[in-house]
Amino acid sequence: MSRLVVLGGAESGVGAAVLAKKEGFDVFLSDNGKIAEKYVETLKKWDIKYEEGGHTDELILNADEVVKSPGIPSEAPMVCRLREQGTHVISEIEFASRYDSAKKICVTGSNGKTTTTSLIYYLLQNAGLNVGLGGNIGRSYAYQVATEHFDYYVLEISSFQLDDVYEFKPDIAIITNITPDHLDRYDHKMENYVAAKFKITQNLTSDDCFIFDSDDDITIGHLNNIILRCKMLPFSQKKELTQGAFVRDDKMVIRYEEDETDLYLKELALGGKHNIYNSMAAALAAKATGIDNAVIRDSLATFQPIEHRLEPVLSIKDVLYINDSKATNVDSAWYALECQKKPVVWIVGGKDKGNDYSVLNDLVKEKVKAIVCLGVDNSKIHAAFEGMVDKMVDTSSAEEAVKAAASLAERGDVVLLSPCCASFDLFTSYEDRGRKFKEAVRNL
Ligand code: ADP
Repeated sequence: MSRLVVLGGAESGVGAAVLAKKEGFDVFLSDNGKIAEKYVETLKKWDIKYEEGGHTDELILNADEVVKSPGIPSEAPMVCRLREQGTHVISEIEFASRYDSAKKICVTGSNGKTTTTSLIYYLLQNAGLNVGLGGNIGRSYAYQVATEHFDYYVLEISSFQLDDVYEFKPDIAIITNITPDHLDRYDHKMENYVAAKFKITQNLTSDDCFIFDSDDDITIGHLNNIILRCKMLPFSQKKELTQGAFVRDDKMVIRYEEDETDLYLKELALGGKHNIYNSMAAALAAKATGIDNAVIRDSLATFQPIEHRLEPVLSIKDVLYINDSKATNVDSAWYALECQKKPVVWIVGGKDKGNDYSVLNDLVKEKVKAIVCLGVDNSKIHAAFEGMVDKMVDTSSAEEAVKAAASLAERGDVVLLSPCCASFDLFTSYEDRGRKFKEAVRNL
């Protein structure tokens, strides 16, 4: 019996272990830290052997193959030892795809992954297809392969998951865009990060499609250096395209093979320039899946905003509060500010990831009247924007930040939480930050 060891006991690791068990492997799961109760229950239910709080060499180094969870860095000592002794280390999606014959639409990129993935899932559901949603969203892909049967999967895939794929092949691959993020995991080299994202395309054949942002210089730069044999479906807001999606006057146009359809930009359910890109990517994926134009138009017009992504919370005294807690880098906050039509009281800050805030200068001068800093160390934000706005204040909790913003805002303004930074200095996650923000707004 082949021995499969899984490193990491959270969503993707436990999912991989369940699938391996179902497929008859001798499975062992090992986690350096504590495994959450719900995952312990799953492991027990499936009678999977595991350990937590450390790795036992003899139980791991005898593996025929190892599945590594994406949260574990490639330089972790156990991963290095496995590689040194020649053990094949793969990701959960690589493993799961060996046992799955469904068609796969896979989304990666720096920003817009969750929105685009959710849009495509909604489109395929509206078209009546038997479709599963997985990867970084919801239940692990491997767990679903073990326990469900779908004809299609829409998968959100991070670059960490792509680090350890070899044979994995989507039918439709999407890179939403590429901007610097997580460079600490890539030796601080942009080319490594770009190459990791492009691994999503490495096995595409002439039957497959690649959907990409042709306004994105980094994506186009890399495409110029590689050869892809699949069907290319670009999207752009800057130029008309012979194939793909683009903006003409006040409409989004989708041109696919001999067919052309369009819809008014103002009909799109999701606001903001960035969501025009996400909607174009989703529409192209739907076209390539053979979905009717009417279903595509209707779905793009009726999709509901996702929590923590430019999510309108409440209007109080004619001030609209918006939760964009998921904007954890400068680029995403750029798009959040760009689409605001009213004066903004901007709540920003958190754990800085080596941000260069200068790209926001023009937008801040034009749209932001006051800044509420929400972080343990706000010095970089002060240095970047001092003198550019009328007022800047420091706060250290969501409640304090919301109260400060409410006192600075006037009728007709917007209070926007779009932090540009990770949340870990004051919160447990971006979800925790977003929920505390919403709770504080409701308590005003
Ligand atoms: P991801 O899953 O890649 O982190 P999300 O869809 O969760 O992306 O969106 C995260 C944030 O990024 C949103 O709150 C929004 O401010 C911004 N954003 C969404 N789509 C785009 C895009 N296409 N380009 C740039 N920023 C975007």
